[in-house]
Amino acid sequence: MKQFKTESKKLLDLMANSIYTNRDIFLRELVSNASDAIDKLSFKSLTDASAKLGDEDLEVLLAFDEDSRTITISDNGIGMTKEELEENLGTIAHSGSEEFKEANAQAQGSEVDIIGQFGVGFYSSFMVAKQVRVVSRAFGSEDTYVWESDGAEGYTITKAEEPRATHGTDVVLYLRDEPEAPADGEEAEQGFNKYLSEWGLRDLITRYSNYVRHPIRMMVTKSRELPKPEDAPEDYKPEYEDYEELETLNSMTPIWRKRKQDVEQDDYDEFYKSTFHDWDAPARTIPFHVEGTLDFYSLLFVPGRAPFDLYSKDYEKGLALYSSNVLIMEKCADLLPDYYNFVRGVVDSPDVSLNISRETLQQSRQLRAMARSIERQITRNLQDMRDNDREAYEKFFENFGRGLKFGIYNSYGSKSDPLADLLLFWSAKEEKMVTFAEYVAAMPEGQEAIYYVAGDSRERLAKMPIVRTVLDKGYDVLLCTQDVDEFTFQAMRTYHAAAIAGDSENAGKDARDLELKNVTSGDLDLASEEEKEAAEKATSEHESLFSALGDKLDGKVEKVVAAANPTDAPARITTEGPVSLEMERVLAQGPEGMGAPHSRRVLELNAGHPVFQKLVDAQESGDDDKLALYASLLYDQALLVEGLSVDDPVAFAQNVCALM
Ligand code: ADP
Ligand code: MG
Repeated sequence: MKQFKTESKKLLDLMANSIYTNRDIFLRELVSNASDAIDKLSFKSLTDASAKLGDEDLEVLLAFDEDSRTITISDNGIGMTKEELEENLGTIAHSGSEEFKEANAQAQGSEVDIIGQFGVGFYSSFMVAKQVRVVSRAFGSEDTYVWESDGAEGYTITKAEEPRATHGTDVVLYLRDEPEAPADGEEAEQGFNKYLSEWGLRDLITRYSNYVRHPIRMMVTKSRELPKPEDAPEDYKPEYEDYEELETLNSMTPIWRKRKQDVEQDDYDEFYKSTFHDWDAPARTIPFHVEGTLDFYSLLFVPGRAPFDLYSKDYEKGLALYSSNVLIMEKCADLLPDYYNFVRGVVDSPDVSLNISRETLQQSRQLRAMARSIERQITRNLQDMRDNDREAYEKFFENFGRGLKFGIYNSYGSKSDPLADLLLFWSAKEEKMVTFAEYVAAMPEGQEAIYYVAGDSRERLAKMPIVRTVLDKGYDVLLCTQDVDEFTFQAMRTYHAAAIAGDSENAGKDARDLELKNVTSGDLDLASEEEKEAAEKATSEHESLFSALGDKLDGKVEKVVAAANPTDAPARITTEGPVSLEMERVLAQGPEGMGAPHSRRVLELNAGHPVFQKLVDAQESGDDDKLALYASLLYDQALLVEGLSVDDPVAFAQNVCALM
């Protein structure tokens, strides 16, 4: 017996036990090697006049035998000589494929697309096998050699007595014993027996090797109905018989490598539904191919509806990553930014090594460059949908808009470009969804900010007195009903409006930054100079009344003032500083609960309202109880108008009764 070369023994142990946490992939590795061997042979026959192939089908054959507990992977590819068996399988991390590629690619200038690059794939067979036998006959040779190893100490190479019928290789795996089911009723470790079944192997092939370009065939048992006998009785029941048939398990044509114009949308839809287990067709299909320093094919989909767990912790984003048609990772998360986590699809690049772990992938510059390119494609497609298929885009936005907003919020606004222009909000004026750009384009002369209001229902927000006051000025208000909206706006601070062309009212305006303003904030600054002066005058005139009211409200408000932007209501609550009433409500539901930051509230009174006179009268008559009652009632009803609940509903009800 020959000992494995170099530090192979330790490495082998490491390899078989830790490189791949998922031992299912052994079959992918062996099938890829077989496919490589076929590629090498076809390549040779194309470029070497002496290597003429007959008309045999080049294929990979799969077989299993329950009695001897073996799986055999055979190919009629290039095969290996005795020396090559020694070189390629006796030395870990020596990849014959890599050498072949280097030697040929330069010489021929033509594409050799070989999966193996790293030289460890073969050893993954020891994850499932206690003994491996490789029987190989090199193309053009009469002799067959057998390489055999238990994957621990070393290997033997002997000449086979019976030569193999044709060139090519059989890899025979003697599966490990099935682990015993634990006696304590715990679930048994997933064993090896599933590899000894038709469904088990079929499953692995369709999962990992479906797009290998050579046929992978297996003899399968099928059932068919026997012809009905002539003299069949009335109550004849059909009879069946089993028969064997060689079936091709893989589909071979990777749809993402086809040119867009050669594929029907129906085919894309079918691929999407079967691959990603969705009943609905995708809302958008994005096939693209990048060539140059980066080289990859990609087929992306925007789902037609959000998966139920999209916003839960369990949702895993990611794209399926293939290297030359072989799946190497089912969900490569690094290929998608979080805000596009809903995108599904496939990326296939010959540049990504098969034998790559999650850690090395993360650091791969190539992968990052691919991710950037993918992100750009998605953005471009969403923009196109927004501009050319608005109905579909609005549906998309309903499904996934929340994630885009989180993208801005989580990046502290640094992702506002391009995400802000993908957002839609309900316009109170237009009564439809609009983009920021559309809002700005419709702004009248003199409007210098984007106005919004946030709360739980569009209907209620539309009825708020301050919203109607702003609308009366001719300014539109965005009615925002998602929790994340205001947090997104705070992260953005401003919206960068592009210069406006065309012949709208705003045409000719330069690019500028517009502040995003909550209409319930105290510094709304919509009042004219006269209105402001009047409010200041009223505030100083009634200073003692306001401070008395402030005392009665006992810390609930920062101050009481006369409103500069009066509505038709007698009083309203505005806020100072970064936390609005709506944010306070949202934060209170969060993990910090009542300990979350509070808004700084201001009670604004409408000095022109008849109720105001009642307050003045109450104070002048020195009726302290009445003043306290009024203060409390005005505060509570202002809260109700803002869509908040009153602090003490019982006291509120008693106050109303007292008044009556
Ligand atoms: P890699 O495929 O990354 O090169 P592997 O460990 O999978 O590394 O295989 C090692 C080498 O063994 C291959 O590069 C190839 O030269 C050789 N080899 C493996 N399987 C076959 C096969 N079925 N036919 C011919 N050569 C093979
Ligand atoms: Mg390999």
